[in-house]
Amino acid sequence: MEETEKEQVALGNGQMSDKNGTQRDTQVIDSIAARYKGILEDLGEDVNREGLERTPMRVAKSLLFLTEGYQLNPAEILRSAMFKENHKHMVIIKDIEVYSMCEHHMLPFFGKAHVAYIPNGYIVGLSKIPRIVDAFARRLQVQERLTDQIKDCIQDTLNPLGVAVVIEAKHLCMLMRGIQKQNSVATTSSFTGEFLKDSTRSEFINLLSSKIS
Ligand SMILES: [Zn+2]
Repeated sequence: MEETEKEQVALGNGQMSDKNGTQRDTQVIDSIAARYKGILEDLGEDVNREGLERTPMRVAKSLLFLTEGYQLNPAEILRSAMFKENHKHMVIIKDIEVYSMCEHHMLPFFGKAHVAYIPNGYIVGLSKIPRIVDAFARRLQVQERLTDQIKDCIQDTLNPLGVAVVIEAKHLCMLMRGIQKQNSVATTSSFTGEFLKDSTRSEFINLLSSKIS
């Protein structure tokens, strides 16, 4: 448990673009941890019992990791792997895992993103698409804005003939709190250019539901 935690934090720091990240992180982590100690006390907990002793620090580190997207520049991530290419057909990356946090309750929402674009002179390294999904997801979000931000970033940076983004997610604020609709999934979608045409959008939806294996 302890090891995994260290690895996660190390990974988080490693990806930060800010060179002063580490010093800033230490200050922010201490500050968040102090507040969380107060929150635990407010909840009536004994903050000195063994299981909770390091909890404020763990929560602070984990929160910093889960909101790491604020330190990342998604457009820059795309620009770092843009290649001139004449390919003019739909490129789809399906089933990208999404883990984000709703800004209303600070509870996780998670699911899958499907992203497509039609190149217009440039393609982008395929691995960069999941990376920008992460860069926008690791912030306080609403699913609708997350969907739009991914679409806008690809459209503005790559200038393709069209972009499509679909996200399907379960929200713990719906599943765990009063409403308790255990199996409800929220689906959001956002399109530009060619994908505004029925025929292109149908092709995209068909490809989404097709399976190779
Ligand atoms: Zn919520």
